Amino acid sequence: MASVTFEHLTKTYPNGFISVNDVNLFIEDGEFVVFHGPSGCGKSTILRMVGGLEDITSGKIYLGDELLNDILPRDRRLAMAFQNYTLYKNFNVYENMALGLRLRDFPRTVIDSRVKSAATFLGIDTVLDGKLKSLTDTQRQRVALGRAIVCHPKVLLVDEDFARQNESRRREMLSDILRINESLKITVLYVTNNYEEAVSLKKHIVFMKDGRIIQEQKPV
Ligand code: ADP
Ligand code: MG
Repeated sequence: MASVTFEHLTKTYPNGFISVNDVNLFIEDGEFVVFHGPSGCGKSTILRMVGGLEDITSGKIYLGDELLNDILPRDRRLAMAFQNYTLYKNFNVYENMALGLRLRDFPRTVIDSRVKSAATFLGIDTVLDGKLKSLTDTQRQRVALGRAIVCHPKVLLVDEDFARQNESRRREMLSDILRINESLKITVLYVTNNYEEAVSLKKHIVFMKDGRIIQEQKPV
């Protein structure tokens, strides 16, 4: 089960600023949820708490029945696609995609089959031996997504910074992520401050303002 539940989720920064204020939300297994709201409303803070990059001040986050609060970030079954994803330019595509699995000591044969199937899924199987500098921006972005999905996460977190550089790249990224959600059944939490984009997706939308959910809309 990869539903995600927030119970009274709150983040207060050390300076006293309340960035996320008593957020309650249930995200079904396999859903694609869009978090939308003006800059500064707490979207990234929510993703960072789910991902374990930020401590939870109070409240709870569950992944299925499992309380995430006390689970170390590296042991959470989720993956993050943020703008500052670190690809290693001296590694080839294969090595970049395999990194997370290597760090977790997966057997070589498992790494090999997972990297190859993810590369095929993302259409970068022909460039596995290539160095990063020989790739297009779109291919590089797919390497970053590939690295995320080889770990078989239950949830994928995508912040808006990922591929904000230009409109066509953003659309390609979005269609990759929709495919990951639909074909691989990975629950997606997607952040955008673009209203048109948020509504055009026709997915579960969470509208936020000043750290709170002000409205929720679900597809009929
Ligand atoms: P969004 O992603 O919706 O633009 P963020 O989650 O990044 O918003 O930030 C929410 C609010 O929390 C902002 O007003 C931001 O200035 C504030 N904030 C973020 N990090 C810190 C911090 N370390 N200390 C104090 N306030 C912070
Ligand atoms: Mg943000």
